[in-house]
Amino acid sequence: MSTPTSEPPALRPPEAGSNKYSRGKVLVIGGTMAGAAHLCAQAAMRSGASYVELATEDPQIQPPYAMVQRSWNADLLKDDRVGAIAIGPGLEDDAFGRKKVEAALASETAVVLDAGALTTLLSIGLTALKSDHPRVLTPHEDEFARLFGEIGGDRAAAALHAAKQSGATVLLKGSATVIASPDGRVLTMPPASPWLATAGTGDVLTGVIATMLAQAAWHGFDTLEAVRSGCWFHARAAELAGPALIADDLLWSLKRAVAKA
Ligand code: AMP
Ligand code: MG
Repeated sequence: MSTPTSEPPALRPPEAGSNKYSRGKVLVIGGTMAGAAHLCAQAAMRSGASYVELATEDPQIQPPYAMVQRSWNADLLKDDRVGAIAIGPGLEDDAFGRKKVEAALASETAVVLDAGALTTLLSIGLTALKSDHPRVLTPHEDEFARLFGEIGGDRAAAALHAAKQSGATVLLKGSATVIASPDGRVLTMPPASPWLATAGTGDVLTGVIATMLAQAAWHGFDTLEAVRSGCWFHARAAELAGPALIADDLLWSLKRAVAKA
């Protein structure tokens, strides 16, 4: 039922006349503890986004390359230069976090939800995912089980069921990553480095996927291919980073992974 996929993604290089918005603007929405959201924002940049805006209330985060918005303003979501929103790493599951997720899901922009945003869905409800715009969920196994029930022996079937139920593209993470589209397609990713099993690597993946979604029209990707590409670059970055990697190492190797595509 699921298709194995190991083909490197085909990225189009930027045009000579590119500007800082034309290669994809990503909005990363975090909360008060922005370490994970910061990793996600850096991953978006290192995988080729030309502009990243980071919404966080954490005063410690001062990246020189990203615009930081420290007070939540739903108007951020009306910026039509934003090609994709990444929400969840560093996001609290409280009333404020839920308000941010609801605002993101009401937008007409592609949204990838991970970590805290997946937890908020337990109270917001999966129906909020129904949209004409791409919605992507990136749960690890525990997050998946909380949202959709136990996985059982067939990960592809579980992910497909979740995608059909939610209307979102579902990337079920772990040692055997599968990606399911609500249209019925399922991809099995080749085994990635088990050194990825360390804190922060999922936050990096969310940022890479957001960049691929923001650039999808440019590269000619549909949502499934954008998600697969993000996952492929993340796995390649882990290979390049080698043993005992930490999430930060992926940021540097992502740049090399994308450069070779
Ligand atoms: P998270 O659980 O959100 O921190 O994400 C962890 C990342 O590491 C995901 O991209 C997983 O697919 C990946 N990962 C976790 N465990 C393994 C493993 N044993 N082998 C390969 N990749 C893994
Ligand atoms: Mg995670």
